[in-house]
Amino acid sequence: MRKTASGGMGSLGIFFITFLLLVLAACAVLYFTVLDPRPSEKKVVYDFLDPGDKVRTSVSAKADAAFSGGVLMFPFQTAADYLGLKQSGNHTERTYYLGQTEYITFSTKDTAADVNGQSFELSAAPRFVGDELWIPLEFVEGYLRGISLTVTDGHVRVRRDEYNASTKDSPLYVDVTALIHADTPLAAQTAAGGEERSAPSVEEEEYLTDISAYLAYIEPADADAYLILVNRSSTIDRSYVPSPLVNIVDSRSDRTERMVETAEKALEALYIEMRAAGYTDVSVTSGYRSYEKQEYLYNLYTEKEMKAGISRAEAEKIVDTYSARPGTSEHQTGLCCDMHNLPSADQRFAEKDVYGWLVENAHKFGFILRFPEGKEEITGYEFEPWHYRFVGRKHATEIYRRGLCLEEYLDELK
Ligand SMILES: [Zn+2]
Repeated sequence: MRKTASGGMGSLGIFFITFLLLVLAACAVLYFTVLDPRPSEKKVVYDFLDPGDKVRTSVSAKADAAFSGGVLMFPFQTAADYLGLKQSGNHTERTYYLGQTEYITFSTKDTAADVNGQSFELSAAPRFVGDELWIPLEFVEGYLRGISLTVTDGHVRVRRDEYNASTKDSPLYVDVTALIHADTPLAAQTAAGGEERSAPSVEEEEYLTDISAYLAYIEPADADAYLILVNRSSTIDRSYVPSPLVNIVDSRSDRTERMVETAEKALEALYIEMRAAGYTDVSVTSGYRSYEKQEYLYNLYTEKEMKAGISRAEAEKIVDTYSARPGTSEHQTGLCCDMHNLPSADQRFAEKDVYGWLVENAHKFGFILRFPEGKEEITGYEFEPWHYRFVGRKHATEIYRRGLCLEEYLDELK
């Protein structure tokens, strides 16, 4: 009996102790999660995501780093590494490069950022905490293209913008650029300081991507300045060198090609759109060619043809069908380029799907197919599916819609 009774009391005791412990544990959980009386320390977590929303890097910051005078800040150094931006500078002033031509400089001594040489007012001064550069989040959200933020209470998700043709396994990212809208202080400064530019509307053409940052190039205010005609009968002087010439971003990787800046910028926009449409393997194989280079090429081809045992005059007749005599090449204007996805320029490019895309879309970026099929008698050149000429969107659209070549269009304008 006693043994049994004491045994019963023992089980009951263990039961009560267990119950008490459970209650205590529940109270503790309640205390630390819901009823925590400690001063709240707001934390912000920034997740930098890969395709499929996999977290690549995460930054966690307490309120004193995440906020500056009520302004939510953003860890830009981590973002720059995430985006693969080139950079230079130190812990006081640092410059980040977007592509080949754009840059942003942040200084801890200035509440204004320098965007491509223009001052841009920030809502809080950038600051370094350790190796991290904190800048106002709204700058990234509002003025950088190619990166998107989702901000919920205490959690910022950062993603790179992808093109339609992007997949999880082979992501295709939109280039990061400084996106300056017409209503931003920077654009207002430019408008006030620079020459007046008409504001063409983008609604009239359909675009997959946001071309607004490139519009001033695609549709230049001085549109008629791009109508220069160079062909076999309308020659260009030996001394003519266009300016400013800049490197073509989308040149084939083994070469450096150049073009007039306005045309090159418009071409960059065309490439962004072309990649968004799923065509990723076209590159520029030729841009500006000097008179001297054209002279060299023409002589080289002529001598090659002469090896068949024909006279120079006969060889030149043959070369004239595929290469321009010096002074008759449009490449000397810096306004055209050869682009394709073949080892070398070839009429078989016309069989490629991307050629079809170029024919239908080049004009939206101010480019025309310069030597179309069926116009050989007028242009004096064989069909060149790879050769595109910049004339600005206004003229290019007219030429495209009416199925003309440049010679016909200029004749009608007279
Ligand atoms: Zn060409």
